[in-house]
Amino acid sequence: MDRAPLPPTSSDAPLGARERIVAEALRLGFEAVGFARADRPLDADFERYEAFVAAGKHGEMGWLASLPEARRRLDGEHVLPGARTVVCLARRYARAVEEPDVAATAQGIARYARGRDYHNGMRKKLRKLAALTRTLGDDVRARPLCDEEPVLERAWAARAGLGFVGKNGLLIVPGVGSFVLLGEVVTTLAIEPDPPIPERCGACTRCLDACPTSAFDAPFVLDPRRCVAYLTIEHRGAVDEPLRAGVGEHLFGCDDCQTVCPFNATRSRRVGGAVDPRFAADPRWAGVEVADLLALDDDGFVRLREGSAIGRATRAGLARNAAFVLGNRGDEAAEPALERARTAHDSAIVRDAAGWALERIRRRR
Ligand code: SF4
Repeated sequence: MDRAPLPPTSSDAPLGARERIVAEALRLGFEAVGFARADRPLDADFERYEAFVAAGKHGEMGWLASLPEARRRLDGEHVLPGARTVVCLARRYARAVEEPDVAATAQGIARYARGRDYHNGMRKKLRKLAALTRTLGDDVRARPLCDEEPVLERAWAARAGLGFVGKNGLLIVPGVGSFVLLGEVVTTLAIEPDPPIPERCGACTRCLDACPTSAFDAPFVLDPRRCVAYLTIEHRGAVDEPLRAGVGEHLFGCDDCQTVCPFNATRSRRVGGAVDPRFAADPRWAGVEVADLLALDDDGFVRLREGSAIGRATRAGLARNAAFVLGNRGDEAAEPALERARTAHDSAIVRDAAGWALERIRRRR
């Protein structure tokens, strides 16, 4: 950890509660811990959120557009009545360097989704931390959170001084980087909060320059409708023509704005520590070619998504993305598979993407 735990100063928390939570979190494998007040509204974050929704940047993610719901995302009381503290936790799932021997198809998958779905492992750890927290005072309640509620966890984590939000819009944990999963334990125990840490990007613009679809309107301001992660995972329809080349070889999600970030630089001594091998690429990908995804049937899709995050993209979405990858690669060997998809796939979106890919390959030839 970059930050040494502070001594407890709250009159409400028993002596050592803070240290015991930090020690348990580190023992469980979290790389960073921070504490935020749960009973103070995150008004600045809500204003940014309002502007985001007003501009329609949520795209097809309609669940993000409800402002009363957004307000609740910033409200500790909604998550746990009487909440006083949000314990924010970060767990590293990757480093910027490629994993050795990762299957070619897995390379097109964002690093967080290459291995087995992380939720179960995170939830077990958070439940243990919540159980410890409940023992730290009379009638203390604690609720672990790992995507169970749509809380704005990045806003909470920044308030807790766990890291700062970089120009790429991601939470960067000094000494750990941004390839982190976030989780929380919301509790009625009052613990002295950590101060937020200042943003440290300085004059760097690497993430903005690296974005393959120029999805940043300005530093810190992402338009998800142009972001490859949104286009390849959440977007269900056809992808606008000018953005298809930008999808490049990304099958599911994109790490480009993180890979270039100096806070993830593996040569930096500050980014120490190993990654839990459970985050390594799922061996199932070793037997899958990108072209196979064009012809994936329901059974094949169910087998592939079992225990994995990639199911979110849907079967047709993966096939559409595969067509873009093959087209962008100029993969002539995939032409027969693309031709079959163009004429016979059950999704019009995939048929259209396969036609685009064929045209692109033929133009290059
Ligand atoms: S790449 Fe540079 S500008 Fe972008 S988040 Fe990292 S440090 Fe900040």
